[in-house]
Amino acid sequence: MAEPQVTVPDAVDLIRAKRDGRPLTAAQIGWLIEAYLGGEVADEQMSALLMAIYFQGLDQAELRAWTAAMIDSGERLELAGTGRPTVDKHSTGGVGDKVSLILAPLVASCGAAVPQLSGRGLGHTGGTLDKLEAIPGWRALLSPAEMAAVLRQAGCVICAAGPGLAPADRRLYALRDVTGTVESIPLIASSIMSKKIAEGTAALVLDVKVGRGAFMRDEAGARLLAHTMVTLGAEHGVATSALLTRMDTPLGRAVGNALEVEEAVATLSGDGPADLVEVTLALAREMLRLAGLDADPAAALADGRALASYRTMISAQGGDPDVPMAISARSRQALNAPAAGWLRKLDAYAVGVAAWRLGAGRALKEHPVNPAAGVLCLAKPGEWVERGQPVLELRADDQSRFARAEEALAGAIEIGPGPPPACSPVIDRIDL
Ligand code: URA
Repeated sequence: MAEPQVTVPDAVDLIRAKRDGRPLTAAQIGWLIEAYLGGEVADEQMSALLMAIYFQGLDQAELRAWTAAMIDSGERLELAGTGRPTVDKHSTGGVGDKVSLILAPLVASCGAAVPQLSGRGLGHTGGTLDKLEAIPGWRALLSPAEMAAVLRQAGCVICAAGPGLAPADRRLYALRDVTGTVESIPLIASSIMSKKIAEGTAALVLDVKVGRGAFMRDEAGARLLAHTMVTLGAEHGVATSALLTRMDTPLGRAVGNALEVEEAVATLSGDGPADLVEVTLALAREMLRLAGLDADPAAALADGRALASYRTMISAQGGDPDVPMAISARSRQALNAPAAGWLRKLDAYAVGVAAWRLGAGRALKEHPVNPAAGVLCLAKPGEWVERGQPVLELRADDQSRFARAEEALAGAIEIGPGPPPACSPVIDRIDL
């Protein structure tokens, strides 16, 4: 017998339709999201629907409607008053990824306005706000008027998204987290893009990380996620492109909040690690291209303009850019090379988990982070190490944390007779 046509918005009918692989209409999706926020669709019904989406996916029209419904669940920011082209960057998250701290002021110093609504870290990847909160006095929570004022003054702002921005995503993400439905490309793409589109930026560059320390470990999955997000951006009128970048080993040498701020400031002062500089400049060029600005970000990094924008932004948000960032953790412990040879592997995931266990990250979103905790990579893949030479320095306030961090690092370091193949940290650009 033929299945009855879904004509009325009834949650159970819609769950059955998706479960059985039939597409939902834009009106049905709009109703589902609104009814979920209004309490007419229960958590268990939305959980079942999310699981059906996990297995059946969403086609392009469904994904467009799902994303639009999440955007429409809240407010859209109005950024037209800056007088500069707006462009933002979003990273899918990596270990040692302090790129935003350098990139936002760098691109601002080249003439764009960079409104960056960021998050806190959960799990083995850090969050931009946690890093900047290592600076005494710096405030992540700004009103829309304060955000606009900092953007006008510094050309960039990095702050927390208010509760009014895509509230449906907040509810759905919390549900996905406890129902095993996070790892779905349409759900990840709509979650990220709804927040970025609601933020009001005219252009967006996505840094989709691939590898052991990334959300997407395989390149095919990362390409599909990038392409899905680029398409969604274009469909919603935001000029969007993506770079696929490697995340097999930590980016730069510092992992942990204050350590990463210190490395970001060193990079803005012309003394950054090569991989971090290469990824940052590639993203900056892409952002400037989408913003229609003809400027040389390498020059702005070298001549101090980017550092000046950073200092203005930090001061405008209550922070003291002159406070020395090397907050000392009370205890340090070295992890030494077991043999002489070329460092072939330094596993980003293991280093991220170690930094997290040392106190740099949180297990629950209510937990505080320790700004001083983290891991310094004293050697990186492609460098020669002597037997007994420190490869990592672990930092924590509480010595009892070292044992669990060392457990995470078992097998993380590989040393061999020849250097690993040289490869650029930027794999590809994904455009429509
Ligand atoms: N980051 C998000 O904002 N949403 C996801 O679903 C995954 C990562």
